[in-house]
Amino acid sequence: MKSVNRRDFLKLSGSTVIGLTLGSVALHAKAQEQLSVEDPTAKALNYTPASTVEGAQCANCMYVQGDEGEQHRPCNIFPNKLVNAEGWCSAWVKKPS
Ligand code: SF4
Repeated sequence: MKSVNRRDFLKLSGSTVIGLTLGSVALHAKAQEQLSVEDPTAKALNYTPASTVEGAQCANCMYVQGDEGEQHRPCNIFPNKLVNAEGWCSAWVKKPS
C-alpha cells in the first residue's frame, strides 16, 4: 500500500475543501427552487402548497426550516427545495412549542 506523504495529504485536503465549498454553493443555489407537486417524493407524501388540513401547515411543522414569516421555506424532508408556508404533506408533525 502506498503511504500518503504530507504533501499528498495537503493536496488531497485542499481539493476536498474546494469540493466542499463548490458543493455548498451548488446546494445553496438549488435550495431556492420551490417544491413541485410533480416531484416524486412530493407526490408520495401528498404535498400540496395549500393545506386543507385544519391547523396543520408547513409553517407549524417540525420539519420546516428557515425564518418565521417567509412564504417559501426549506424543509428537512425535501432537501434543496422550498415548501410553501401554507402547504402540507403527510409527513407533517406539529412543531413543539
Ligand atoms: Fe411541510 Fe411536509 Fe415539510 Fe412538514 S414535512 S414542512 S408538512 S412539506
